[in-house]
Order: sequence, then C-alpha cells, then structure tokens
Amino acid sequence: MKLIFEKSVPGQSSVSLPESDIGKIKIDQLLPKSKIRKELDLPSVNETDLVRHYTELSQRNFGVDQGFYPLGSCTMKYSPKVNEEMASLTGFTQIHPLSDDVDVQGALQLYYELEEFLKEITGFTAVSLQPAAGAHGEATGVMLMKAYFEDRSEKRTKILIPEAAHGTNPASSALCGFETVTIKSNSQGEVNLDDLKKNMNRETVGLMLTNPNTLGLFEKNIKKICQIVHHQGGLVYCDGANMNSMLGVTRPGDQGFDLIQLNLHKSFSTPHGGGGPGSGPVGVNKKLVPYLPVPRVKKNGNLYCRDYNHEKSIGKVKTFMGNFGVMVKAYTYIRALGGKGLKRAGQNSVLNANYLMKKLKPYFDLAFDKTCMHECVFSDKKQQLYGVTTLDIAKRLLDYGYHAPTIYFPMIVHGAIMIEPTETESKRTLDEFVEVMIKIANECRTKPELVKTAPHKMLVTRVDEVAAARNPNLKWEE
Ligand SMILES: *Cc1c(COP(=O)(O)O)cnc(C)c1O
Repeated sequence: MKLIFEKSVPGQSSVSLPESDIGKIKIDQLLPKSKIRKELDLPSVNETDLVRHYTELSQRNFGVDQGFYPLGSCTMKYSPKVNEEMASLTGFTQIHPLSDDVDVQGALQLYYELEEFLKEITGFTAVSLQPAAGAHGEATGVMLMKAYFEDRSEKRTKILIPEAAHGTNPASSALCGFETVTIKSNSQGEVNLDDLKKNMNRETVGLMLTNPNTLGLFEKNIKKICQIVHHQGGLVYCDGANMNSMLGVTRPGDQGFDLIQLNLHKSFSTPHGGGGPGSGPVGVNKKLVPYLPVPRVKKNGNLYCRDYNHEKSIGKVKTFMGNFGVMVKAYTYIRALGGKGLKRAGQNSVLNANYLMKKLKPYFDLAFDKTCMHECVFSDKKQQLYGVTTLDIAKRLLDYGYHAPTIYFPMIVHGAIMIEPTETESKRTLDEFVEVMIKIANECRTKPELVKTAPHKMLVTRVDEVAAARNPNLKWEE
C-alpha cells in the first residue's frame, strides 16, 4: 500500500469552493511576515483517492465491531450505536463552548446530571468531568492531593504505588513532582499490609490503588489499607478505570477512598483505543471539593450555569469543558441501562471473566487461583515446557481472527496473559474463544514450531518492536 504522500499529484485537490464574495485580504495584512509559511509539505490528492486511502487503512485495523477483543485492563466492550446517535444530534454537535449559559441549557443540564449519576455510582461528594482521559484524570487527582497538602502547609514528597498498579499511576505522580515508592504484593496478589505500614508516614501523600487491581482481584483489605494511610494523615486514591466490575455492587467512596478517576471510555461505553477522545472524570470526597477544576456546573433554581468562583481551585486542566461527545455517550448509556441495568453489566463482566478462567484453567497456568473480578491473568508456564512463550500464543491468536489479550502485564506475573472478556460478550463468543485457546494449547504441545512462527495469516508477521518504534517505516511492501 502506498503512502498518501506517494499518491500525491501536484495541483490535485479534494475541495472546490466557490470564489469568495466578501473580498480578499492579503495574508500579510493579517500576520507578521516572519510568521507566514513559504511552503507546506502536504499531499495533494483528489477526493476519491483521499476517501479510498483512509477507507483502506481503516479496513486493515481491528476493532470491537469486527471481533472479540479481550484486551485485559482496557475494557474493549461493545458500545451501543444509540450512544453515537445521541452524541451526533446537531443540538450537541453544533454548539460552541463559548456560548452564553442561557443558550446551552440542555448541554449544561446533561453535564450536571452526568456528574450527579457518577456521584451516585461511586459514592463521592463531587465530580469534575473535565479531564480528557484516565491518565489525565489521575494527574488531576494527584494535583488535587498536592493542593490539599499545600493548603494545610504540610510538606509531603512521596506517593505509594503497589506493584500491581497500572503503569500510568507512577507516571502521573512523577508528573506532579512526587517520588514514587513501590509497595509489594502479598502471596494473594493483593497489597502487602506490612510493607504498606512500613512505608506510610508523614512525608507521604498517600496511596494510589487500582481496585480491582491489575490482576483482576478485589483488594479485600481495602478498609484496613485506608485506615493505615489515613492514620498518617494521608489520602487514598482509587484508579477506577475498572469500575465496570463494581457497578451497583460496591462504591469506592464507601470503601474509604478519598478520590477516584473513572474512564468513561471504558466503563461507560465509547469505543476506546486508537487515540480517539476519552474522558476521565475525577470524583472526590468533601476534603478535596475546594480544589476541583473550574468551571463547576451549578444549578440555580431551574437554570444551569458555569461557576468559576472557586478560590482554591487548581484551575483548568482542559480547554473548555472536556470531551463533551464522550459525556453524551456515557450519559445515554447510563440512562439506557438504569441502576438495575448497570448492576447487571457489572455482574456480567465478573461472570464472563470467571467463566473463561474456569474453562481455561486446565490448559494454562493461572497466576492466582481464586475468584476474579472482570479479568483473569494466566502465565505461559505450561507452554514453556515446549519452548513456547506468551508472545507466541498472542501471535497465534491473530491467525484465528482474535485480537490478542494484554501480555507481559502486570509485570509481577512472569509471561502474563491478561484476559478481559467484558460484559458485552455472549456465552457463544466465549465458548468459541475457549475452543481456540485449547487448540493453541494443544498446538504448543504437538506443533510448537507452528506457534513459535505465528502469525501465518497476517500481512505483518513479527516486527522488531523497538526498532519499529524508533525508526518507523510506514510503507508496506507487498
Ligand atoms: C486504561 C487505564 C488507565 C489509563 O487510561 P487512559 O484513558 O488510557 O489514559 C489507567 N488505569 C487503569 C487501571 C487502566 O486500565
């Protein structure tokens, strides 16, 4: 396949606009000379070529609308099309964020009500929808914790992060200038309480905890964990990207956490991945409300308005109000499912993961043999006997038309294979996947070379991942 630059023919264009009837102004009357570009290296293609190029590229992609996508920790679940319909209503798409509040009452009402729903779902006092993604929500959360301690004139420099945390947690902490201290896991795959006690002190902001953790396990000592951190005046942060597994069953606000970020683009639909927009709202308890980003959407009588009047606010973390389209989808999803529906979604995520876990357990080594939440983690221990590794298994799955699970993460499991089936898959899909996994387990035993050289049906087989990232060659030789 050619690059779009190679398809370029000088002089071709995909737009044809009528002559302007309001007169022309020379560019140098608008911009200083030094700012005017002499050349712009863009491809010139006609509309047909342009559409075909990008359609062809899109068909080489894999998405959840094409097949099962069991990417652990990422909740690649099916996103109902009605959400897209609602998000594309012109009443939402054609409004401008600088409109006066009175002219965008509907959008502000949706914003306000979505915050209310998320408060109810998580058990927190207030929510800000502003952050644009999970990691951005984390960074916002850490900024809130920082502002809280600065306001109290307490100098705290460290933050505790368990081994089983998502990789974005230490990154968010570092971004805000904190030193991260790693907390060990115990033999059950949960936070080691002794190690937590040893490291939690008055120099430490608190703990960032993913619950359920990245092993797909619920931290059953959560109350004790919160007590230990609170005892030293610290705060407990919940990475709530996996909230889909707890919907309607338990609330992080009730578990003792002080704040949370959610991933609307995982738990509350919106297909994610591929760099599309996301939304990572932050929920906080009473202590942290004064520091939330502005504007806050308030309701005065029947009128909704944006309120900038918060002296201690950390300010803005995103232009305007965040990624509004994602919020419309999440709002539609929550309204369509209702409380009972959300609970069933949560229960199904756990049921599906446990079903897969039980079915695959005889064939693959299970990292922690106990009931899981929304995902389960295997290792390649049994396959290593035949010289086959996790990477080989993941590559072989591509030949059977599946997206590979998350692999080699979490790092505390050697050769991890992390499977999250999500709540939207049917038993039939799960059974078909199990059948293929068993087939691969047998191939590892009988034809290990076949698995070690997989994939055999893909256009791209195995790439040197480091070289590919450092020195990308986007051209495709067929
Ligand atoms: C996906 C995920 C994140 C990061 O979310 P992004 O929207 O990709 O920035 C953080 N924590 C956990 C546990 C996640 O699964």
